[in-house]
Amino acid sequence: MILILLGAPGAGKGTQAERLVTAYGLVQLSTGEMLRSEVKSQSELGQKAKEIMESGELVPDDLIIKMISVRISQESDAEGIILDGFPRTTEQAKALDIMLKEKDLRINHVIQLEVNEEEIVERLSGRFSCTDCGMGYHEKFAAPVNKGICDKCKSTNFTRRSDDSPKTLRNRLSAYKEQTALILPYYSTKGCLKSIDGMAEMDIVFDEIKKMIDGD
Ligand code: AMP
Repeated sequence: MILILLGAPGAGKGTQAERLVTAYGLVQLSTGEMLRSEVKSQSELGQKAKEIMESGELVPDDLIIKMISVRISQESDAEGIILDGFPRTTEQAKALDIMLKEKDLRINHVIQLEVNEEEIVERLSGRFSCTDCGMGYHEKFAAPVNKGICDKCKSTNFTRRSDDSPKTLRNRLSAYKEQTALILPYYSTKGCLKSIDGMAEMDIVFDEIKKMIDGD
């Protein structure tokens, strides 16, 4: 099964993808995560992507398409794949179609999580994570039980994503509106696009996604 999660930054794609991995044994491929690990390892791709990511713009299509196509090939035996943060441009959506056709795969669901801009700013400006175990938190909605101590690993080290700063966030939202939102008609014409209210409680959003998958 191939499932694409679409939505603006902060719409909840990563959170829902993680739950789907646990519930259905699917593999999550997040291009944002892949790029962050390339930046960390200072690979050639990471060095090219670093500044672009810090500015909130999109990394060029050719680099993204090459990176994801390697990963999709590696996961060809998986139960299913969740694409989180890819495709983000029409060019990427078209390249994905070609990649999947070559592997005799097809897109089963494209799920758009709809969240308004005010909520996105509130969600992203408050989020942080444990530096040691990666557990995600939010100042307002999901703070650690004991302030300053990670619930999971008891670490006292926390990190914020540098691209969650107000200025970069504005650029990330513009990139979404000006480039990524354009792929919605591409998928709705194909008849595989479904929209879910991403403003609802996380559990409700998850139940809606499950209904779509289980209805197959
Ligand atoms: P994300 O974690 O999905 O919010 O991605 C973080 C950043 O990585 C984005 O703001 C882009 O700079 C870059 N990025 C991630 N996925 C893509 C993609 N599919 N196309 C272009 N740039 C991407």
